[in-house]
Amino acid sequence: MILLNDQIWQDFLKIVRDEVGSRVVETWIKAVTISRYDHSTGGIYLSTPNLFVKNWVESNYKDLFAKHLKRLLGVDHVTIYFLLASSSSAEQKSTEQKGLQAASDVDESFKTILPAVSAAVKKKKYEVLKKNLGYQPNLSKLNPIYTFDSFVVGENNQFAYASAMAVAEKPGQLYNPLLLYGGSGLGKTHLLHAIGNTISQKNPSLVVLYQSTDRFITEFINASRFDGIAKFQAKYREVDVLLVDNIQFLVNKEQTQEIFFHIFNSLYESNKQIVLSCDMLPRYLGGLVDRLKSRLEWGLVADVQVPTLETKISILMRKAQAQDVLVGADVAYFIAQQPVSNVRELEGSLIRVIAYASLTSQEISVELAKKVLGIHSEVKLASRQIDFKFIVNIVKKHFSYDIDQLRSKDRSKGVSHARQVAMYLMKTNTDKSLREIGLYLERKDHSTVSHALQRITDLKLNHEKFSAQLKKIEEELL
Ligand code: ADP
Ligand code: MG
Repeated sequence: MILLNDQIWQDFLKIVRDEVGSRVVETWIKAVTISRYDHSTGGIYLSTPNLFVKNWVESNYKDLFAKHLKRLLGVDHVTIYFLLASSSSAEQKSTEQKGLQAASDVDESFKTILPAVSAAVKKKKYEVLKKNLGYQPNLSKLNPIYTFDSFVVGENNQFAYASAMAVAEKPGQLYNPLLLYGGSGLGKTHLLHAIGNTISQKNPSLVVLYQSTDRFITEFINASRFDGIAKFQAKYREVDVLLVDNIQFLVNKEQTQEIFFHIFNSLYESNKQIVLSCDMLPRYLGGLVDRLKSRLEWGLVADVQVPTLETKISILMRKAQAQDVLVGADVAYFIAQQPVSNVRELEGSLIRVIAYASLTSQEISVELAKKVLGIHSEVKLASRQIDFKFIVNIVKKHFSYDIDQLRSKDRSKGVSHARQVAMYLMKTNTDKSLREIGLYLERKDHSTVSHALQRITDLKLNHEKFSAQLKKIEEELL
């Protein structure tokens, strides 16, 4: 048995960085340390800090390790084994007993970085917080309903779920910040609360704060108005775990971005866990300063996607169960099949069916669900297939302005009008938000989009000729 030498490991990192990129190397590959190499069998034993990392690298990067280490070692055959740090330290002991050297930094990664906060310290913290901002422990604003237990795991959210669990397990130690991103209604807020709930339960001494970006902005504005910036910052400095939801709302709020940046840094430097959610990858957000963009993606980034039919069914069954309502698998299947793009809408459909059944004292059946959801779903089906590009093409056909002109700063009458029609069509024919439409057309502020909606609606009602034209366009969209 010989130790895989450091040079080989460094070469390996370099090659792998070229192949899979820095993010993977920093997040995953470097979480792995070499335990030992058994020359006689070709066994390479790699140590991982926890089960989560072990499973992830094992299923995603095992071949990568094998391929390059084999070549670097100049042998025909290697077998990669991933060990858990606890078992590899046992390994380590036994190898050491045999007088062999092994990786020594395994246990290091296990040391608790977070300071152990005693109850008394925490009490004092709360007193400071209370004095500063009327903050109370129960103002952590965690919703107890949103737990890991009530979260249904599917392919669409597996990684986000596992990352959230890992962070809840070891706040501030593994992945900081954790950023969850993805479309609306796909479980980001749920996971944020689940992290908060788990940490508060396991470590009652930690101060956990869930904050929506909206609230953060309002608090900040109030604080600046009343000269309370110092107190505002002091409050956040006392937090051990900060969960900030919907950070896309920081867009175009330069001053809030600035203060957020400072709070972020100060928490990060003291190894306090930060978890963020965003409706898209921050790098694609316009109106966000670059240094903040990169900070936000510094740690682990995990996406949530639209669930598969199966997962949708499980979610529906779970939600019905939580309300003590019996919903048959056939009904769950029927609802899950509806062309809705997110879990929130799916839940909405379920609630409508349940409510209707209970109000009219009927049993919950597929027939009933059809009646309650039928028409709604047909409309949705037609609209879901339309995307922004399609709309842009139709607008070009009718108004002869292309995408570059729509996105330009040109405010002359013709372009403005075509742009507003495009915005109107985007809002009424897709399920995208004002903000997404604004971003797509490169407007600085989504109020431009709401203004457009207002104006086109007015025109539609008051100008016969325009109304007829719009109708024709809308028919082409179907
Ligand atoms: P987001 O913050 O991504 O917009 P939310 O976390 O608010 O979405 O989720 C919307 C609703 O859907 C919530 O009621 C949440 O409990 C539910 N939900 C989303 N994903 C799941 C899931 N995988 N399992 C159970 N409930 C889910
Ligand atoms: Mg949310």
